[in-house]
Amino acid sequence: MPIRTLTDEQRAFVEAIRDFARRECGTREQREALTDHGREPHNQGLYERIADLGWLGVAIPEAYGGSGGGAVDMCLLCEEFSRGLIPMGFFPITMMAARPVERFATEELKREILGGITRGHVEAIAMSEPEAGSDVGNLSCRADRADGGYVINGQKTWITGAHAATHILLVCRTNRGADKHQGMSMVSIPAGAEGMEIRPIETMGGREVNDVFFTDCYVPAERLVGREDHAWPQLMAGLNNERLIIAAQAVGMAQRAFDDVLAYVKERKQFGRTIGSFQTLRHRLADLATELEATRLLVYDVAARVDVEPEAMLPREASMAKLKATELAKRMTLEAMQMMGGYGYAVEYDMERQVRVALVTTIYGGTSEIQREIISKTLGL
Ligand SMILES: Cc1cc2nc3c(=O)[nH]c(=O)nc-3n(C[C@H](O)[C@H](O)[C@H](O)COP(=O)(O)OP(=O)(O)OC[C@H]3O[C@@H](n4cnc5c(N)ncnc54)[C@H](O)[C@@H]3O)c2cc1C
Repeated sequence: MPIRTLTDEQRAFVEAIRDFARRECGTREQREALTDHGREPHNQGLYERIADLGWLGVAIPEAYGGSGGGAVDMCLLCEEFSRGLIPMGFFPITMMAARPVERFATEELKREILGGITRGHVEAIAMSEPEAGSDVGNLSCRADRADGGYVINGQKTWITGAHAATHILLVCRTNRGADKHQGMSMVSIPAGAEGMEIRPIETMGGREVNDVFFTDCYVPAERLVGREDHAWPQLMAGLNNERLIIAAQAVGMAQRAFDDVLAYVKERKQFGRTIGSFQTLRHRLADLATELEATRLLVYDVAARVDVEPEAMLPREASMAKLKATELAKRMTLEAMQMMGGYGYAVEYDMERQVRVALVTTIYGGTSEIQREIISKTLGL
């Protein structure tokens, strides 16, 4: 966010997060200890301390224990978590799962789930399946009506933080209509539900995602979120929220990689001078700084528009923000690695991990190709 357009309160919020990051995650040793040497993207102890500071509820309504902020506040938090390398890996997905609950769930579920988030609970959302990735509408995990509730059977895959989550917001099939996007529902499954099995998937990012299997898993009807058979419009209503969260995270990643490489090229000497004095590097850094600034403006402009008109879907703008910010995070970290030479590639330093974390941002939450499809449709193509 251009700093002059932040309120005093938002500026103080950003400063407080930066200060926390410096104190708690400022050294390589602290980061190694908090992430089990990069294997754990999320540290629950630290997360609960951040909950105690009231930050996790920044975009949760006051009625459920949050501070009732909006999209800009949420983006500031996501950006600063990334920039500070604070291992809060499951916060973004928690907020993605929170939005449909806030908009569509019963009061009781809102109190349980949104209230829990403000106290440090992780939440997960399960849409993807082996045969339903970009084509979410092809999902087949089903919930059949039985005994005043639903019996769930099927498989979900790539579910971020499922192993740490208090609930999984499941998107499943309750009907099959002529249009594949009809007949889906959202159901909140509590952790440890009988008939639900969670198995880790190994990735470049450490312990983050899981397969989740459902075998005759029963949940009472009160755990339906929103209207039966209406999950698709409910999902669509939250897409700008999801894309903004990922975009803000990506801006933070890009900023951190930029900060780190800038410091490096000012120190590292070759041929008797700092490598940052070579024009080829200086100009690349000037271009990257310009692109970072432009991307941040785009992301926060979309967030500000959402705050003005929370019901607006903004499909083109939200997709542009997600596409631009994640592609920049990927390019920035790769450029930073290149400019750091062998030291960028060594596991002993942070940059190789920053590259791994940035690479996946153009895949999850709708790939870059899918964002381009959405943008080109809005151009009448
Ligand atoms: C680390 C990680 C975390 C994730 N977390 C979650 C989560 O918490 N919950 C959840 O539900 N899902 C999650 N996902 C799943 C993620 O949303 C999907 O991986 C993503 O939507 C892509 O689906 P896919 O992997 O099946 O790839 P596919 O859909 O098979 O795509 C493969 C390639 O084909 C391209 N492609 C597909 N269709 C088109 C098209 N129409 N036009 C042009 N190109 C196309 C894609 O862009 C991609 O390059 C996560 C994934 C990862 C890797």
